[in-house]
Amino acid sequence: MNTTHRHSDAHADLVLETHSLRRQVGQMIRVQRTVPAPADLGVDMIGVPEGSPLDLDLRLESVGEGILVTGTVEAALKGECSRCLDAIKEDLLLDVQELYFYPDKEADEDASRVSAEETIDLDPVVRAAVVLNLPFSPLCRDDCAGLCPDCGANLNDDPEHDHPDRIDPRWAALRGIAGGEDLDRS
Ligand SMILES: [Zn+2]
Ligand SMILES: [Zn+2]
Repeated sequence: MNTTHRHSDAHADLVLETHSLRRQVGQMIRVQRTVPAPADLGVDMIGVPEGSPLDLDLRLESVGEGILVTGTVEAALKGECSRCLDAIKEDLLLDVQELYFYPDKEADEDASRVSAEETIDLDPVVRAAVVLNLPFSPLCRDDCAGLCPDCGANLNDDPEHDHPDRIDPRWAALRGIAGGEDLDRS
């Protein structure tokens, strides 16, 4: 049985060949393609599902220091509302701009680099852009009413929701204690 897993190559789809720029200032490549999203593109509550389409529309331009990448990445976000746990689906349009320095150029330690094979890796840049644009507490809508603390009903579906003969949990606890004492005495 062939167990080779196509998903393990997903990362490679975000590695772009830049050979044709030939380090000539002003030379440009337009990259328009759809690639599968890599794993772990997001946080617990919300993110871009692995393998879902990432639409790249990028311009790679040779500049003095390296290759300047500008453009957009479109992705579909999926997650859960942090108040009512309903599913959230949203389109994400990210602006991307990153300078990849040539291997022989001076740059900060954490600067993006063109590899010795003249490729650039978009993965860290896309990852940073996605995470920066994720809501800290995702909501299905700004005024999501959340869940009933007593029964867990979704209050968005039932705004009038109430428990008319609700027993205060503190009273319920006291009753339990009183009942216990009765038993002890008998
Ligand atoms: Zn909600
Ligand atoms: Zn309730």
